[in-house]
Amino acid sequence: MAVSTFKRGLRLPTRKHATEGKPVELVPAPGQVAIPVNQHFGAPNKSLVGVGDRVMRGQKIAAAPGPMTVPVHASISGLVKKIEPRIQSNNTEGLCVVIEADGGTEEELLPPLDPFNCTREEALARIREAGILGMGGAGFPSAVKLSPPPDKHIDIIIADGAECEPYLTTDEAAMTEKPHLLVKGLAIVMKITGVGRAIIGMEDNKKNLIPVIERELRLGEIPGDISIGLCRTLYPQGGEKMLITALTGREVPSGGLPMDSGCIVQNVGTLIAIAEAFTLGKPLIDRDLTVSGGACRTPKNIRAPIGTLLKDLPPEFMEIDYDKLAKILFGGPMMGTAVPSLEVPIQKNTSGIILMTRDETVAEIEGPCIRCCRCIRNCPCRLSPVIMNNSLEAEDFDYAAKAGLLDCIECGSCTYVCPARIKLVQRFRIGKQRLRARQQAASAAARLVAAKS
Ligand code: SF4
Ligand code: SF4
Repeated sequence: MAVSTFKRGLRLPTRKHATEGKPVELVPAPGQVAIPVNQHFGAPNKSLVGVGDRVMRGQKIAAAPGPMTVPVHASISGLVKKIEPRIQSNNTEGLCVVIEADGGTEEELLPPLDPFNCTREEALARIREAGILGMGGAGFPSAVKLSPPPDKHIDIIIADGAECEPYLTTDEAAMTEKPHLLVKGLAIVMKITGVGRAIIGMEDNKKNLIPVIERELRLGEIPGDISIGLCRTLYPQGGEKMLITALTGREVPSGGLPMDSGCIVQNVGTLIAIAEAFTLGKPLIDRDLTVSGGACRTPKNIRAPIGTLLKDLPPEFMEIDYDKLAKILFGGPMMGTAVPSLEVPIQKNTSGIILMTRDETVAEIEGPCIRCCRCIRNCPCRLSPVIMNNSLEAEDFDYAAKAGLLDCIECGSCTYVCPARIKLVQRFRIGKQRLRARQQAASAAARLVAAKS
């Protein structure tokens, strides 16, 4: 099978050996969970429960008010003890529903729904009602992704199983253990979108999964052509834009989305969650993730109820070597976020918890830019990180936007290669938020002026 890739990219130490090939182990329900009410990309949700209410696992506890939102469900049965702001995995405070377990094992799931004998609208409503969003990290509501505007012609669905971040092996474990659900989820998405072609993309360090998936493709009922696309093990191969280029030869235009190149990309874990939402009626209430890193004595792949606090993971699932621990990361080391404590809950988009030693982290002290241009040579989106950074330092947001700030996929490659250890990607994350806020404020002001005139 031919191996494709994109231009540029980094050959990183993959550091997956500690959890590669390990099964997903089920974490017992904890004594309490703190479930963030807002885990998606769009407007805030509205809590549906109050302190003292009893809830069942699977019950909807936060309603989604708009199209860019998804509801949130209880991941354990018990009593609502508090509804209060807590630190979340993105290191900001957000409203959480704290549920204390009462030993109940009842579940309130959705009724199963045959995806091949329901309307497109019913299928999209199911995906939304099950609270499904992009589990690869972005948190974008899946039903929205599967409803492109009529003027966008989509002809390829891509299942993203590249998992290019070091340490993480959750997607590999999911493809190993649930290939039938992966193929079913892909078939559902093909039916909803009316697209007849799909590619399951993975890096060539997962070649051993090809026969497993090919077997499912032979057995499953496939509404079109599904193939496997092998990509070189190269960071950030799992980025949507990179995967599209590698597998189809197409480029997502500057300022555009995958749909602008005729593609919809869904993470393999998301596709499995979609299949389970139909066959089991299960909302997104559990999360598979990798626990690893040099300061982790028990590296493994686990499944935990969403809202489980890191401190409540039993030691057999996450035993920390405190003498070595230097940093706790939600997600992988390239795109993940460092959190200050173990009081942070696992969320729908938590792909891993990495407990890093000092040796595994890069030096924190920044030096001056030495104009080496390594950041430019290694940016997979062909941007000029040094120019974007200089523009942001000068508060020149217009120039940063012209230099492509909003096209940055926050892969962290520039930060990784920068010899001056300048925290480029961290600045781009904040810069993008500030730029978007300014653009929204400018549009609101323009609308006000138009309304008055
Ligand atoms: S973080 Fe952004 S600017 Fe830096 S290498 Fe990645 S895409 Fe390019
Ligand atoms: S890699 Fe770092 S030091 Fe080199 S040009 Fe970019 S920002 Fe400057």
